[in-house]
Amino acid sequence: MPAASLGDQGHSGTESLPSQHLQPTWVKDELMDEKGKEKEKDPKYWRDQAQETLKYALELQKLNTNVAKNVIMFLGDGMGVSTVTATRILKGQLHHNPGEETRLEMDKFPFVALSKTYNTNAQVPDSAGTATAYLCGVKANEGTVGVSAATERSRCNTTQGNEVTSILRWAKDAGKSVGIVTTTRVNHATPSAAYAHSADRDWYSDNEMPPEALSQGCKDIAYQLVHNIRDIDVIMGGGRKYMYPKNKTDVEYEIDEKARGTRLDGLDLVNIWKSFKPRHKHSHFIWNRTELLTLDPHNVDYLLGLFEPGDMEYELNRNNVTDPSLSEMVVVAIQILRKNPKGFFLLVEGGRIDHGHHEGKAKQALHEAVEMDRAIGQAGSMTSLEDTLTVVTADHSHVFTFGGYTPRGNSIFGLAPMLSDTDKKPFTAILYGNGPGYKVVGGERENVSMVDYAHNNYQAQSAVPLRHETHGGEDVAVFSKGPMAHLLHGVHEQNYIPHVMAYAACIGANLDHCAPASSAGSLAAGPLLLPLALFPLSILF
Ligand SMILES: [Zn+2]
Repeated sequence: MPAASLGDQGHSGTESLPSQHLQPTWVKDELMDEKGKEKEKDPKYWRDQAQETLKYALELQKLNTNVAKNVIMFLGDGMGVSTVTATRILKGQLHHNPGEETRLEMDKFPFVALSKTYNTNAQVPDSAGTATAYLCGVKANEGTVGVSAATERSRCNTTQGNEVTSILRWAKDAGKSVGIVTTTRVNHATPSAAYAHSADRDWYSDNEMPPEALSQGCKDIAYQLVHNIRDIDVIMGGGRKYMYPKNKTDVEYEIDEKARGTRLDGLDLVNIWKSFKPRHKHSHFIWNRTELLTLDPHNVDYLLGLFEPGDMEYELNRNNVTDPSLSEMVVVAIQILRKNPKGFFLLVEGGRIDHGHHEGKAKQALHEAVEMDRAIGQAGSMTSLEDTLTVVTADHSHVFTFGGYTPRGNSIFGLAPMLSDTDKKPFTAILYGNGPGYKVVGGERENVSMVDYAHNNYQAQSAVPLRHETHGGEDVAVFSKGPMAHLLHGVHEQNYIPHVMAYAACIGANLDHCAPASSAGSLAAGPLLLPLALFPLSILF
């Protein structure tokens, strides 16, 4: 963006947005029947589709430079580009279509960028250092959250003075409501960078901390969740056990010892959370889906929902009575947050895409991603492109791939259409570079036609045996729509993302372009249209 046009940004007017926000007309999520398949044989079908898309792309030159009253960030943990593509095919196949032609909700976003995910000390990053980048705007060491690269992992005494704050804090400081929704525990790597400063992502409660760190005064992440930013409006996910004194029985799993409280300091953080809220406000702690769905969002000011002792269940294994889906949590979160006339910031994590991949269970991972895409659609239907910037990205990729010259419409969990020309055995399209799916039977690669490779928990074969499949090091996609979405446009360092979100929302440190409301114009003019826009303005002023 040329500097000359900066002064013209940042103010929403009454002018309606360019039609960039309409979908090309050919985009329909309908069942692809025999007629649909015939259509693809006609060159006109492809030409018309491309021309529609071109018209739409030309409209994108009219930029949306409104102020983003709301910012929603969807973070698919481990959702690399190969995962996005496979998720798209799965979504289509769940609707009985071939799948490849399907459009995910995120596919409909007008702008896409690539994000370079490396940590300051790691070529292939982890979820903690990356969360610090895309939430706090600063790259950091792997394993650390909410601290700069001057903090070394696990070294408590390198924390002080190196704390960095997140966009969630910047939004709160600007008077917006803020929320965190995740399918992992709420003190896991991704959400924790929004509110905590910890030399080690694994310091979930004081029980997980070394005595040295405790004696040096470092606080665990659950403690920081409740104490650091005391008025986070919505917190939902798993992680109950880290909130309660050691050995306190869990409300849902009474006989499960692993579900019991972990805290050595004997604190009841749920009570402390409540005690920090003003008496005249409505604060609700809930732990099951029924409670969530019977809440009246108009009567909720603060919500803490902890639905599992640790991470939440995979979507495919979810108990529909006790556990809400990610999209159900997102809907309630937005209903509560949008009551604030100043708007909101919401971080949503599809956190278990990553876990499915680590276990080599591609089907679990992809169903997690389908559910996050559903949540993206729900959020889109509850917000407006006029005032809401939505960003969808991943922290890092995985060594997950699919290939093998599979024919159109092949089940994404299916076999390649030929045998290996080397070991003469079949192979699945989905494979991992490494991981627990490496299996040798009688000195040879396992014959997958002898196993149920479509099972929810089937572990796809890998080239190298590892108990936990690893992250991948290539760039991940950033999808964006709404005000200033066009600033996410090329290949960027991952820490650029929150700087854009904050710029769009006129929060954080860079506010030079955010003139007082009195001088607000109705400028939706991008650089290309600027000369035209200036003329009428010079008359106005
Ligand atoms: Zn991971």
